[in-house]
Amino acid sequence: MAWTNSKDAALRERAMAVIPNGMYGHQSVMLLPDDYPQFYDRAQGAYLWDTDGNRYIDYLCGYGPNLFGYGHEAIDAAYVDRMKRGDTMTGPGQAMVELAEALTAQVSHADWAMFCKNGTDATTMAMMIARNFTRKKTIVLAKGAYHGAAPWCTPLKNGVTEADRANQVFYEYNNVESLEAAVKAAGSDLAAIFASPIKHDTFVDQELPDPAYARRARELCDEHEALLIVDDVRAGFRLARDCSWSLVGVKPDLSAWGKAIANGHPISALLGAEKARFAAATIYATGSFWFSAAPMAASLATLKLIRDTDYLERTIALGERLRAGLDEAAGRHGFTLRQTGPAQMPLIMFDDDPTGAKAYFWNNALLKRGVYFHPWHNMFMTTAMTDADIDHTVEAADVSFKLLKAAGPLPPVEKLAFLHSMVD
Ligand SMILES: *Cc1c(COP(=O)(O)O)cnc(C)c1O
Repeated sequence: MAWTNSKDAALRERAMAVIPNGMYGHQSVMLLPDDYPQFYDRAQGAYLWDTDGNRYIDYLCGYGPNLFGYGHEAIDAAYVDRMKRGDTMTGPGQAMVELAEALTAQVSHADWAMFCKNGTDATTMAMMIARNFTRKKTIVLAKGAYHGAAPWCTPLKNGVTEADRANQVFYEYNNVESLEAAVKAAGSDLAAIFASPIKHDTFVDQELPDPAYARRARELCDEHEALLIVDDVRAGFRLARDCSWSLVGVKPDLSAWGKAIANGHPISALLGAEKARFAAATIYATGSFWFSAAPMAASLATLKLIRDTDYLERTIALGERLRAGLDEAAGRHGFTLRQTGPAQMPLIMFDDDPTGAKAYFWNNALLKRGVYFHPWHNMFMTTAMTDADIDHTVEAADVSFKLLKAAGPLPPVEKLAFLHSMVD
């Protein structure tokens, strides 16, 4: 593969003139290893092509939406068909009712559904509904958990006021005493406990939920007549064909969904239990594009695949093949990887890599061999990946480990130190 990023470099330079910092948000590659391209031309199945024509096996999957492969034929046909007959109209299409029926049939805690565009819309509505339901203010959240980019939850504090963050108490994920202490601190003002289905924070190992912690969160909400909210935006339908906490036997009152529910078409959802229906009906929540019919048709087609195929078992098998192959390759070169979380949502970091130097070198070497990995964010498997893609990835990893070993001691990653200083 000829490595060139000249078109990308030119686009970045033009972007600098007309887009703040050239790019913003989670898809900015500013903080990634040096050779990551910023702009992309095409995506199909498990692959992504940059504007210079380089192809990558894409383990970011659009940062979550790509579950069944980019450009999935049946899903996109449903989208295009609906779009041609009317998408963003003066009112919703019948797909809205069908999708609410399909999701409430699919997700066992849910009796109703509301639709929006982004995960942040859904988590923000969940917070408002909990406060409306309880007439209380305080929300209890896990430290370091991501719930979106609104002033109440965005990880960077620039432009955020203390008032935006008022009435929030934090606990350590999976730690029952810490959760109890946070609820105690909320006193008689507890509106909701927010929980990620798994701990999938950046920079730290992922953790599956301890069932005792999940059950305690449920009990505490019941004792305080508060609402339990599971933020399934990232993990939704990647761990289970139901809400992710069905795996630990805990039903939330509200769950937020996004990313994969329409395989990349823009739609998110908030699902809720009967008791929160009136509270949901009496907040004002809307958006110009929230009722667009085509993403709803795409989501219906996606749900059909979720019900009717072995997609989940397939992504788990692919993830396990990758995990085993990488462990073996790392071992051959004397490295130890920390591969955490569910195999289908892999987070891959190096043991003994305090400044990220090993990870950055290795990820960059993989990129040049057509594998798009991330050094500190969890990744995703798609059903479009094949065993051959995984094997190619493991071979590229093997070569990259070899190069890493040959490189000897590396300087700390300065941009990473900068990022930590911004967030902390
Ligand atoms: C991505 C994400 C969000 C926010 O979703 P957007 O569509 O980016 O607004 C919220 N919660 C979790 C867990 C996420 O991964």
